[in-house]
Amino acid sequence: MVRMTPQRRVLLDELKGTHDHPSADLLYERVRKRLPRISLGTVYRNLDLLSEEGLIHKLQLGGQMRFDADLTHHCHVRCEQCGCVDDVDCQAPEHVEQAFIAPNGYRITGHRFEWVGVCPQCQEQNG
Ligand SMILES: [Zn+2]
Ligand SMILES: [Zn+2]
Repeated sequence: MVRMTPQRRVLLDELKGTHDHPSADLLYERVRKRLPRISLGTVYRNLDLLSEEGLIHKLQLGGQMRFDADLTHHCHVRCEQCGCVDDVDCQAPEHVEQAFIAPNGYRITGHRFEWVGVCPQCQEQNG
């Protein structure tokens, strides 16, 4: 089991309380309000540890690392204009992946799937 340092607990807390899939930089800004002496390096290191322990998900969306404390199976939609990320319910059970990819001889360990579009706020601004 991972040792829950105060920094790690605050990071996990912060992530569990949000659904906007923040980047490490954004999380750093937020946790600094509670831990004024934390460094960006500490934030990066602890986020890596938390994701290695399976307590959070590390997502690569739009070329940027984002973090998600929602461990249920879901997909993501990213706005190509403002970069915001939302959750999308989608059914992609493991056997579907196996059926599609197993014939190539791969052993499937996960998948990455991302919808891209324009979010409602951006559509409104564009008129
Ligand atoms: Zn947008
Ligand atoms: Zn998510």
